[in-house]
Amino acid sequence: MKTLKMEYMTWPDVRAAMDAGFTRVIVPVASIEQHGYQLPLCTDAVLGEAAAVRLAERLGDALVAPVIRPGISPHHMAMPGTLTLRPETFRMLVEDYIDCYTRHGFREIVLLSSHGGNVKPCAEIAQRYAHVKAVYDVPKPEELRELERIHNLPVGTNGGHADERETSEMLALEPHLVHMERVEPGFTEPLTPELLEKFFGEGVQALTAVGCVGDAKEACRERGEWYLAHTTEELMRQLDAIKATHGG
Ligand SMILES: [Zn+2]
Repeated sequence: MKTLKMEYMTWPDVRAAMDAGFTRVIVPVASIEQHGYQLPLCTDAVLGEAAAVRLAERLGDALVAPVIRPGISPHHMAMPGTLTLRPETFRMLVEDYIDCYTRHGFREIVLLSSHGGNVKPCAEIAQRYAHVKAVYDVPKPEELRELERIHNLPVGTNGGHADERETSEMLALEPHLVHMERVEPGFTEPLTPELLEKFFGEGVQALTAVGCVGDAKEACRERGEWYLAHTTEELMRQLDAIKATHGG
C-alpha cells in the first residue's frame, strides 16, 4: 500500500485494506495551540500523525484516521491562534469518529493522544467502549528526566511542551516549520504537582511568557529521529500493557 493515511485513500482502497486484514484504526487526537517562539501551532497534529503512522507500520494491521486537530487547550489560550474545544464538543467529535469506524467494520480503534490536555478525556471515552483503547505520546515528568539522562541534556530541557524533544521531532519531520533562531528558554524548573496545577488552572503564561516548558536550544534532527523511534516502542509497550490487563 502506498499510504496508511485513510484520507489519502479511495474508498475501494479502504475496503481492500480491510479485506486484507487491516481491522484496526489509529485516531491521532492532537491540538492546535501555541508552541513557544520556535514551533507552529500545528506541532501536536504533526507529531501525533507521525506517531500514528509509525505505530501503524509497526502493527501491520492498522490504518490511520484523519487527525483530530483541535483538542482541549484552555491553558494555552493566552497566546493567539490557539484553539480549544468545549469538553462536550471534544467528546462528541471523538465519539462520532468511533461510531463511523465501528459502522464500517473496524474491530479496534486506538485513540493516540499527542497532547496532555486530551489524556484524561480520551481515557474516559475509551473506558466506555470495549473495542476502543487509548495510548499517549505524552511523557510523564520522570520519563522526560530519563530522556535527558540518556542524551546527557541539562535537567529542565524537556518539560513536555515545545521543549527540546518536540522541537527535535519537528526538525526531523517538518524542518521548514521550525524557527531555531528564535528559540528562548521557557519554564525549566522541575514541575511539582503545585506548579502543574498552576499550569492547567491559570494557564501557561503563569509559568512563562515564552510558552515553552523546557528549553529547545539543543534541539537537532538526529535526536528527533531517535525520539520518534523511541515513541513507537513506548506506544507498543502501552498497547501490550492494555492487552495484558484487559485482553484482546
Ligand atoms: Zn506539543
